[in-house]
Parts: sequence; C-alpha cells; structure tokens
Amino acid sequence: MLKISNLSKTYPNGTKALQEVNLEIPKGMFGLLGPNGAGKSTLMRTISTLQEPDQGSISLDEIDVLNDKRSVREILGYLPQEFGVYPKLTAVEMLDHFAMLKGIKDRKERKALVKALLEQTNLYQVRNRKLGGYSGGMKQRFGIAQALLGNPKLIIVDEPTAGLDPAERHRFHNLLSEIGENIVVVLSTHIVEDVSDLCSNMAIINKGQVLLAGDPMEVIKQAEGKVWQTVIEKSELPQYQESYNVISSRLYGGQVIVRVMNEQNPAGQFTAEAPTLEDVYFNAIKSNEASAQAKEATTA
Ligand code: ADP
Repeated sequence: MLKISNLSKTYPNGTKALQEVNLEIPKGMFGLLGPNGAGKSTLMRTISTLQEPDQGSISLDEIDVLNDKRSVREILGYLPQEFGVYPKLTAVEMLDHFAMLKGIKDRKERKALVKALLEQTNLYQVRNRKLGGYSGGMKQRFGIAQALLGNPKLIIVDEPTAGLDPAERHRFHNLLSEIGENIVVVLSTHIVEDVSDLCSNMAIINKGQVLLAGDPMEVIKQAEGKVWQTVIEKSELPQYQESYNVISSRLYGGQVIVRVMNEQNPAGQFTAEAPTLEDVYFNAIKSNEASAQAKEATTA
C-alpha cells in the first residue's frame, strides 16, 4: 500500500502544484485523473523520488519513500511522460543495456529476461527493429517493458495514452491491466476512459488538490439521479449555461446535447440519465474552478 500524507509543493515562481495531498493507494490500478496543470506529474515525480516536496510524507509498505530513495528505486518502475529512447538501437539492444544498468550481469539471464519482457509487451515480432521507427503505441509498450525490469512492486506511468490511436490505446490498456493484478500501478491521465476502463481506485485532482477519491463505480453511484440531459439549439447554449449547472455540452447533428448535474429534475425539458465517470469528473472540476474564482473575487 502506498500512503501519501499532507504532501505540498510550491514552485519558486509561486505555483502551488500540490496542496496538502492525502491519498491511500492499494494494490491494483490506481487512476490519477486531472486536467493539464493539475499537479499530476509533480505528484508522480515526487513518488518516483525525482523531486522533493516542501512538506509531507510518502510510505510504501514499510519504506519511507522520501528518506530512503535507494530502497524505492530498487522496487520502482517508472514510465515518464516524455520517454526518450536511442532511435538507432533496437528494442533488444536497448533493453539489454537497461538490464545491465539494473545490475543483471549474467548474459544468458539478461537474454532470457529481455525475451520474456518483449513477449509480455507484444514487441517480440519487432524486437530487431530500430526504436526510432516504432509507432507511438510501440514506444509506450517498450516504455513499460523497461519499467518492468527488476520485478518492480510499484509502477508509475505518467500520461501513457496521450497521442495513441484507439487500437494502440486498447492494447496498452490490456497490458497495464495484466500488470496491475499483482502490484501497485499509479496511472496519471487526463482521459476519463483510461480510468473508467482500467482502474479499481481513483482520485480526481485539480490545482494541486484532491477533489474526490474512491472506487470509480462507487463514485458514479453517488451521482445517480442527479444527471439530466436535453437537446437544444446552439444559440440557446449561453442561456442554459447561465441558468443550469451545465457540466458538459457537445454537438450532435447540428444541435447541442447538454448535460446538467442537479439534485432534482431541473425545470425544463430534461430527461434523467445514468451518470458516467465523465459527468462526475466535469462536475468536480467545474465546482472547484467556481469556488476558486469566488475565493479570488473575495481576496481581490
Ligand atoms: P500535470 O501533470 O497535471 O499537467 P504538473 O505537475 O506538470 O501538472 O504541473 C502543475 C503546475 O505546476 C502547473 O501549473 C505547472 O505549470 C506548474 N509547474 C510544473 N513544473 C514546474 C516547474 N518546474 N516550475 C514552475 N512551475 C511548474
């Protein structure tokens, strides 16, 4: 279990990237969901021992993460947002090199390990191709292969599906869900489906704060009976945004489908809809933005 307590980080320019973050992350896939700039990467880099917080603590089972970085690095697999590879090396060559860096000195052992990882990540067919020629999805799967070296107990993946096409994303999801069965995998993303498809636990963060956390199914359940939908003309949208708690609007056949979060059926032509994680996410972000604005207005 990964436990994050009271973690804060303010960058020298004054940006409060993390504000007293508390999270308990059990074994399995954990989704950290938030828009760009929410603080996800800052949190991921801090857990991965690449960056210091201003205050707070992190423990992984018995390891004090911030004070015992060596122990963390021995059991950590990290796939950063920008994963650089040597474009001229093949997957086999590069993985072999990483395995050597991990201290696996025996050539035969390395060879067997590299083969197993390439098979697990479905890259065995393209193992002798240069990494520079890999597609985005292949590169991400290669990133997972290197993160899996040395049997990590904790895997951190930062925005892994950004830029993948649907088929590649699907393949990547399958790979992650297999890995997530036995260890802690923390996945940061701004894509709601990544979390609803994969994660047994999640948190929504914005402006460095945890807005809500829990089992996605439970979180969705709490919004039952509160999501309402209607179809309107484009020109009516500003008026709806003014009158209702509009959480999303999307064009459909030249008209606009509007979703509203409200305890009761709002006055007007609305139908009750089953809530989705996207509804919960948009509502959480919207309320947070609104209260931040109200706070700014009172302090200004
Ligand atoms: P996310 O990964 O959710 O997009 P980040 O953790 O990258 O969020 O960023 C959180 C906030 O901190 C953003 O406002 C970002 O601009 C700011 N930030 C990130 N890194 C730095 C840095 N090195 N110096 C100053 N501000 C930073």
